Amino acid sequence: MAKRDYYEVLGVSRTASADEIKKAYRRLAMKHHPDRNKDDETAEAKFKEAKQAYEVLSDADKRATYDRFGHEGVSGGPGGMGGYSAEGFGDIFGDVFGDIFGGGRQRGSQVFRGADLGYELRLDLEKAVSGDSATIDVPTQVTCDSCSGSGAKKGSDPVKCSTCGGAGQVRMQQGFFSIQQTCPNCKGAGTTISDPCSACHGRGRVHKTKTLSVKVPAGVDNGDRIRLSGEGEAGRNGGPPGDLYVEIRVKPHKIFTRDGANLACEVPISVATAALGGEVELPTLDGNVALKVPAGTQSGKVFRLRGKGVATVRDPRIGDLFAKVAVETPVNLTAEQRDLLSQFEESIRAGGEKHSPRAGGWLDTVKRFFDRISQ
Ligand SMILES: [Zn+2]
Ligand SMILES: [Zn+2]
Repeated sequence: MAKRDYYEVLGVSRTASADEIKKAYRRLAMKHHPDRNKDDETAEAKFKEAKQAYEVLSDADKRATYDRFGHEGVSGGPGGMGGYSAEGFGDIFGDVFGDIFGGGRQRGSQVFRGADLGYELRLDLEKAVSGDSATIDVPTQVTCDSCSGSGAKKGSDPVKCSTCGGAGQVRMQQGFFSIQQTCPNCKGAGTTISDPCSACHGRGRVHKTKTLSVKVPAGVDNGDRIRLSGEGEAGRNGGPPGDLYVEIRVKPHKIFTRDGANLACEVPISVATAALGGEVELPTLDGNVALKVPAGTQSGKVFRLRGKGVATVRDPRIGDLFAKVAVETPVNLTAEQRDLLSQFEESIRAGGEKHSPRAGGWLDTVKRFFDRISQ
């Protein structure tokens, strides 16, 4: 179901003051409260909707985020490359009725999975094709060694939060019913620290650049991702760490372009080789091969060399190499060479279309084109 606009839900304008928002929410909460609407099945949904809208619009920061990004901005799921981690918004939208209806809301302090991290690994085409093991330095948040993540100074322990009694959640009385919220004192941890660890200033995590080795499987290509489980940021309150996603970026190659399992390259050949035929050395990723150029080969002709491409991670079958011939016009001619070429040209012209079928055909076409115009 598409979410309704939060302002619309509360029936207030986008410029409504905090007080107006609060009043609107109170009114709706009273009207739709499930205890008062036992026969109306839609009341619970309406109540929840109003509650969600209020949670966002009553918080200046969240309201600003919502104004800019809409629902997307305030409902980030867990994980994602550089996206939201599970902490923060998740619990606000938790089931506020667990409490009221005695539903299955889990009690106890909240744990947060660490954020996933992304890392771009740039590789040469050769390494991408053959596979590689790379060492990467990843700046991340790791569990503090000094306090093992508790945030409390050595020899001291975190103490039970006096505000929530260790539950990490508090009940707020609003009107005649109570709602459960993340404890504002301990931020859901259930404990507070009186004597913070000096290494992490009580945060339980420290910045660190981790050096990791990554095994790159043979055949990887641009955009392939390798997941290093548990190598993302450390979790909080004992939560599990996130994952690290290594994304492959293959550097442009001097000779080859790659399309999946196939490689392509351009091969310059001389006018004489193109006309007389011959052999040219053609590079592949595993050594040179001889490419036979038949006499009369035109520029742009593509030769397919089967099995001279690469394999991909998903398919071990090796693709083909497509070699496109480019006939090179000779440059910086000496007087003698110019002379020879002029003689050659005369001889060719004398033979007409026989020697230059394309040019001859083209000239005919041009002539017909002009004839039509002048009619
Ligand atoms: Zn520490
Ligand atoms: Zn607390």
